[in-house]
Amino acid sequence: MLRRPMSFELHAHLYGCLTLRDLVCMAGRENLRYDFFNQSYESTYGQRMDLEQILAEKDWLKLARSYYFLRSGNFRSFQTGFDLVIALSRSDAAEFQEIVRKVQDRQTASFAEYRQLFSPLLDRHSWSSKVTALAGALDESSRSHPEKQMRLVMSLLRDDRSALWQYETLKELQKSNESVQRMLVAVDFCATEEGFPPGDKAELFARILQDNRQNPAHALALLYHVGESFTDKSVESAARWVYESACLGVHRLGHALALGIAPEHFQGTVRQETARERLAQIDFECHHQESLQEMGYEVNIRALHAEKELLSNGEPVRIVYDETRVEKLKIFQDFCMKGVRDSGAVIECCPSSNLRIGSLSIAAHPLRRFLYAGLSVVIGSDDPGILRTDLNREFRLLQKFGLTAAQIQGLEECARRSTSEILSGRAVL
Ligand SMILES: [Zn+2]
Repeated sequence: MLRRPMSFELHAHLYGCLTLRDLVCMAGRENLRYDFFNQSYESTYGQRMDLEQILAEKDWLKLARSYYFLRSGNFRSFQTGFDLVIALSRSDAAEFQEIVRKVQDRQTASFAEYRQLFSPLLDRHSWSSKVTALAGALDESSRSHPEKQMRLVMSLLRDDRSALWQYETLKELQKSNESVQRMLVAVDFCATEEGFPPGDKAELFARILQDNRQNPAHALALLYHVGESFTDKSVESAARWVYESACLGVHRLGHALALGIAPEHFQGTVRQETARERLAQIDFECHHQESLQEMGYEVNIRALHAEKELLSNGEPVRIVYDETRVEKLKIFQDFCMKGVRDSGAVIECCPSSNLRIGSLSIAAHPLRRFLYAGLSVVIGSDDPGILRTDLNREFRLLQKFGLTAAQIQGLEECARRSTSEILSGRAVL
């Protein structure tokens, strides 16, 4: 396959790059965690699954069906496919070398940042050894094939305590390990986002940005998956989470769909959110009352205060997206998009992933709206193995979005100036 000249892949998960053939190779080993996948499958689809038997019978068609994610679904069903990779992986040094070599072979971009999340069960010592081993493998591959550069982005666990010790471990490794210093360029937060408001990360994000200013040679970009899956709240709250993440200094926002999905997509749907989330939304609207009203978004302070009183019972709130609410939502999203644009944050848009995991039509996808609003956007392939895509195919898919050649070129140029090393202040364009 032809490589695009100097193309940049800025949103890809390393183990999400694996193909079925890679999985079959990995499955030949012993002591794999079949039950991890079996349980995930049963809880998602309500049907029993026996991975060990599929492998013993070499039923590759069934394995492919359990793995590849080619139709629209949701985050949970996607995660079940990813759990197959987890069940078959060991995440040790030998495996990293093998996988990095294979992924680099298939890499169509000249420069790619790969994200990696390790098991929440690891202690600090094991986590640290895995980071070092992975950085070493990426370093070796980048040196042997300088035309296909690879970099490491460590995805931290979303709970605050883990995120803190993992970040601190990375800062120590940067001082003690040359491969980590060269390869590690950013921290990311991925997997389930529901239940983890960005505001809870304010202190950690401020510290990361402060560390970056103090020591630019070790600066790490701040990447954050947000607004991709928001089953637990209103679309407005989900858009607000994206806005808040950008205001907290996040350099690149993963997906940020809630910010710009066509509001009509939600017409006739009913959502629910916790009283805590609704209160946060009310406070936000009151705080930005003036700017929102200037854009034509009605903020009735008296009614909102009355609603606050009612919310003290802690009951969740039901939200019906009727025509009026949908019209209001559009203005609210426009307001949030303006805030994100002004913050300078870059949106990582992964078309195939968004259409399938987000279950969106091209018409409802926010990309054109993002560009119209003047936002900085880069294109990524997310999990090219599971999604059976690559960066070239993602760019070809953009033609179906009705983007002009100039807009597509603009996306490529945005990627060139939005690598983690540039955004964090470590490198100069
Ligand atoms: Zn992702």
